[in-house]
Amino acid sequence: MVDLASLVVDVPDFPRPGVVFKDVTPLLASAEGLAAAVDAMVASVPGGVDVVVGLEARGFLFGPPVALALGVGFVPVRKPGKLPRESVEVSYALEYGEETLALHVDAVGPGDRVLVVDDVLATGGTAVAAAGLVRRLGAEVVGVSVLLELTFLPGRALLAEHGLDRVDAVL
Ligand code: IMP
Repeated sequence: MVDLASLVVDVPDFPRPGVVFKDVTPLLASAEGLAAAVDAMVASVPGGVDVVVGLEARGFLFGPPVALALGVGFVPVRKPGKLPRESVEVSYALEYGEETLALHVDAVGPGDRVLVVDDVLATGGTAVAAAGLVRRLGAEVVGVSVLLELTFLPGRALLAEHGLDRVDAVL
């Protein structure tokens, strides 16, 4: 059995002094690690997912293999100015500054059951913002799946405040 935790490397003081960044690139580079991580994410997915929504940028690395395994499509939530067609956008506060996310208006719609995928759940602000975009288009967020949850941060609680109770983390 591959030790997934050992394939995520702590990088102190990145991207800012005082932050310990979880670097998932060694896990991605490991054939065994990548397969085990995707298998574990897929195993926890709630039933009836129609589409995987992945969050820029590392949600683009884990989302498509999860979608392929589920036999559903993949939709990107992107940073501003990247999507070429009509989109909905949301801005939300970061620890320092602000971020904006965008989603094509026709990417999901009423009746769709969406799984939101990202690499890391930290404060939860990104996942909540993305779920808000999905909901604005009339679709339902049935789960949030991440590789790694920073459990010393209240991300899971923030998601619960927004009615996102199904949150699965591999690590
Ligand atoms: P949140 O909005 O605070 O939950 O931050 C989650 C977003 O920031 C995700 O899109 C992650 O990719 C990214 N992120 C935050 N901390 C880390 C980390 O330690 N490693 C990799 N990505 C991170």
